[in-house]
Amino acid sequence: MIYYRELILDRASESRKDRAWLKQQWARQHCRVFALRNDKSLMRWRDRERHNPEVIYLAQAEVAQLVEEAEQPVFLGLDESGPLFALDLSNHREDIIAGIVQQNDFVDLRDVGWLLEKQQAAQLAYARGLLFWNRHHRFCGTCGSPTESHNGGHMRRCSNSDCARMHFPRTDPAVIMLVEDCSDPARPCCLLARNSRFPSRMMSTLAGFVDPLESLEETVAREVFEECGIRVGKIDYQASQPWPFPSSIMLGFRAQAETREIVVDGVEIEEAYWFEPQQLKEFGEWGDGGTNFCLPRRDSIARYLVESWIAENS
Ligand SMILES: [Zn+2]
Repeated sequence: MIYYRELILDRASESRKDRAWLKQQWARQHCRVFALRNDKSLMRWRDRERHNPEVIYLAQAEVAQLVEEAEQPVFLGLDESGPLFALDLSNHREDIIAGIVQQNDFVDLRDVGWLLEKQQAAQLAYARGLLFWNRHHRFCGTCGSPTESHNGGHMRRCSNSDCARMHFPRTDPAVIMLVEDCSDPARPCCLLARNSRFPSRMMSTLAGFVDPLESLEETVAREVFEECGIRVGKIDYQASQPWPFPSSIMLGFRAQAETREIVVDGVEIEEAYWFEPQQLKEFGEWGDGGTNFCLPRRDSIARYLVESWIAENS
């Protein structure tokens, strides 16, 4: 299962260009609003151990008075329950939002994504990506004038009429690849590495951003060589995952190793090894407090790539 995709929401990409239509949606009785603050989503805990989060859908009336000081609410779309918006409260004073926060918490989706119902996780990821983009594009990259939100937060236009440049949400492509060595068919193994930014025991697939003028396959080959010194041959696309943390899409591949000796770069990658399927089955889980290596988090496409490889090779 790949998280944060297959969102069932009518994005109404034509209708949302019409301000009057958006106002009607905002005023509808069943309009629901996500509140976010510095990329974290308002949730409530159903249990004291904080293992069971509940997504909070606020009624429009609960946040109406906060909108004047906020950026425009961002329109996410329509589903069978009605319109769905997201509101960025990053710049609000704590006492002003105390009424809606109450006993609730602003929680990082990355810490709880796989504990949520899949559609809700996708909705929150979408909200987070759009609010992040709006918050970081308040000025025009061409002339430096302030930009204004249009199309329900899906376009920003430069307020300088001599420029009037339109800016659209960006998505940065990144590749993520499971490198396998099938030179001995009786003992297939795959390459997992620990990035210096990872928790101490977590081993994962390699990944990297696509450079300008690079094909996806060229990025895969370059990143694997730069990070681990392995040359790869055949490269096959597997699956993709929207990754709005803050603004990527992960393009998943499997690559066949043509060399075996690992030379880690020592900067981005601290250690990397070849693993057989049986070894991976003995890996622990992120946050389990154990001492074994652990698998990537359950909401990541890295986890999907590793698990499908284990299943095929067991
Ligand atoms: Zn401009």
